Amino acid sequence: TPTVGVLALQGDVREHARSLVESGAVAVAVRRPEELDQVDALVIPGGESTTMWKLAVAFEMFDPIQQRVKAGMPAYGSCAGMIMLADRIEGGIEGQQTLGGLDMVVRRNAFGRQVDSFEYDLDLPGIQGFRAIFIRAPWVESVGNDVEVLARAGDRIVAVRQGPLLATSFHPELTGDARVHSYFVEMVREL
Ligand code: GLN
Repeated sequence: TPTVGVLALQGDVREHARSLVESGAVAVAVRRPEELDQVDALVIPGGESTTMWKLAVAFEMFDPIQQRVKAGMPAYGSCAGMIMLADRIEGGIEGQQTLGGLDMVVRRNAFGRQVDSFEYDLDLPGIQGFRAIFIRAPWVESVGNDVEVLARAGDRIVAVRQGPLLATSFHPELTGDARVHSYFVEMVREL
């Protein structure tokens, strides 16, 4: 049984943990480097990527997470978490850093400029009709050759995978539908 951490600096920690448990993982909140050492994989929730970056630095978690990701730890970023896993971002604040790992450009608040939040039914590999909730959501502007596009909303890329890294623009923890978390836990089991 994989142990999956949920980065607990900000965001829907409890909801992510519930969906992970429903997917057959052990879920633990991760706030300190010692806790990160105990997990096989990490979920980075939504919230505010500028704040999450600053909190990660303040809690001395930024470098340890980046090192684990570089070493191949599976990670799943939702919304602000997607921004954190992007190698490059558009619309960031001055000096904003990401953990990186996913070879893509993500545009912050991209949908948010049009409408603050919305729901959209989309398909992912092996998942039909997932009700995705977008809140001031980013979209993926472009991806490198090794990035697999898993889902689009209209013509915008909203879910991607590159090896052990998964990211979605939307918040699957808010619907009580654990299929995206199950997809991630399955990735963790396979790696
Ligand atoms: N707009 C937020 C950001 O830029 C992300 C929104 C979210 O996580 N719901 O970090």
